Amino acid sequence: SYRKGGYHAVRVADQFAAGRYIAQRKLGWGQFSTVWLAYDTKTESYVALKIQKSAAQFAQAALHEIELLSSIADHNPTNSKFVIQLIDHFKHTGPNGQHLCMVLEFLGDSLLRLIRYNRYKGLPLNKVREICKCVLTGLDYLHTDRGMIHTDLKPENILLCSTIDPAKDPLRSGLSPILERPEGNTNGGVTSLIEKRLRRRARTAVAKISGRRASMGGIGDAAKTGRNIDGIDVRCKIVDFGNACWADKQFAEEIQTRQYRAPEVILKAGYSFSVDMWSLACIAFELATGDMLFTPKGGQGFSEDEDHLALMMELLGKMPRKIATGGAQSKDFFDRHGDLKRIRRLKFCPLDKLLTDKYKFSVNDAQEFSEFLLPLFDFAPEKRPTARQCLQHPWLNYMESPPNEMRNESAVEKVDVGMSNLKIRVEK
Ligand code: ADP
Ligand code: MG
Repeated sequence: SYRKGGYHAVRVADQFAAGRYIAQRKLGWGQFSTVWLAYDTKTESYVALKIQKSAAQFAQAALHEIELLSSIADHNPTNSKFVIQLIDHFKHTGPNGQHLCMVLEFLGDSLLRLIRYNRYKGLPLNKVREICKCVLTGLDYLHTDRGMIHTDLKPENILLCSTIDPAKDPLRSGLSPILERPEGNTNGGVTSLIEKRLRRRARTAVAKISGRRASMGGIGDAAKTGRNIDGIDVRCKIVDFGNACWADKQFAEEIQTRQYRAPEVILKAGYSFSVDMWSLACIAFELATGDMLFTPKGGQGFSEDEDHLALMMELLGKMPRKIATGGAQSKDFFDRHGDLKRIRRLKFCPLDKLLTDKYKFSVNDAQEFSEFLLPLFDFAPEKRPTARQCLQHPWLNYMESPPNEMRNESAVEKVDVGMSNLKIRVEK
């Protein structure tokens, strides 16, 4: 992909925007872009530099993303704190063409990495609550204040706030040579000895930072000190506005990543803000259990879409006939009675039973968590609570379970009478 129209190859210590930003190390990449940690010489802080592929369709997508991100950044109330902030944008010309570049605040690891770090066993419920509060606050801002639908909420697109300020990091000394480089030292393209030395030192610095890579999001910190997930600060922000749209100006019919897709999108019945609420509920389940809630697969004689609808109904009950038959695509899946055409026998298993039987939640935890999730899984999109309403839900403000040190024999006994057994599950 590093050819004409594709990615821009970046080397450590490369300069951008007339020397303002200096590349430090690669943070990640997506379909459309590579993302680098860069030092901003103007503000003397670290930023994430997203460098888009250069071909016209990628440039177009980047312009769209910049438009949405600018709208988020221009209005700056407190709850926009839970959404990624765009700092700057510019064009950069390289051998593969002209690349749009976005300068974003530097964040840590994604929730997907957090789930993996916890070996897919699920996070303690108090962490799930904290994450849900952050995401809901961010969503309320996007929906209510900006009129924007994210349309691609999933664990990869929620990043933890970085717990380490690289500028205050003791290892930073390795970075100083590049950072303190005199302005305007460009040498007309000739790589001077100094430049070579700087690059070498930059690489050493990068190696040092890489060794601490996981620390950026706080995960590695906890791993090293032998603490469990309780030691991780879970403030997080919503990122990746490449697919976001305005509620009154939508672009795509098919939105969302499969597992987080709302039923009205499959049925092509039109959508609004409430598609993000469906995805949020899927994410909350995944955080608490370590498993994706819906993982549909096509099979003999039925499609992935139909399997997805079947899985939803097995968990949530039959879809009201009016809704089932109301979408432009409904006839592909449902007969006129509102029954699936190809999947006839459904194995119903309500959410609280799934949580107790498969995930060993206490009856209490399962019931309370279900009461929080089920309204978000309403088949009628307009009946789902808004982000703001959801923030009022008592589940988000329940007391945390007691810390581990307090768990003694009597506390273990209490597990059997319905206290949270989640901690025990997490520690195994
Ligand atoms: P794409 O639109 O190409 O999918 P993303 O915006 O999803 O690009 O970014 C790609 C990857 O880069 C992310 O998965 C993440 O690992 C990393 N990344 C993106 N933005 C940041 C950021 N602000 N701070 C740290 N890492 C980031
Ligand atoms: Mg992405």
